[in-house]
Amino acid sequence: MKSVSCIFCKIINRELDAQIVYEDELTLAFRDIAPAAPHHLLVIPKAHISTINEADNTHQALLGHMLLVAKRLAQDENIAEKGYRLVMNCNSQGGQTVFHIHLHVIGGRNMHWPPG
Ligand code: 5GP
Ligand code: ZN
Repeated sequence: MKSVSCIFCKIINRELDAQIVYEDELTLAFRDIAPAAPHHLLVIPKAHISTINEADNTHQALLGHMLLVAKRLAQDENIAEKGYRLVMNCNSQGGQTVFHIHLHVIGGRNMHWPPG
């Protein structure tokens, strides 16, 4: 079910603008509004799941699909060969600020480890 107040549900419903780069039955992907790198996409499920803590076995295929969409987008963005980072933040200490799960696809510059 869609959450009426969730900004990512609003993007799915086209109530809020975003630079959408990919869509299928299960997922949507769009450019991050405040990119952390030259390439910064977000892959989200169309189903509203607040945090990865709320995911369960019924979401297994969906979560795997999100990873494969991310991989495909990295190829489309021409960052696959040089390398990129996939990140999902969870809750406040994890740095999550939007409570509809999303996979960050970040590339186009050198990444550092551990992250800050
Ligand atoms: P989080 O901190 O939850 O892991 O990541 C949320 C991401 O969503 C941030 O990188 C932030 O820039 C991005 N974001 C927040 N609001 C919007 C929006 O309205 N549109 C788009 N395209 N990205 C957003
Ligand atoms: Zn949502």
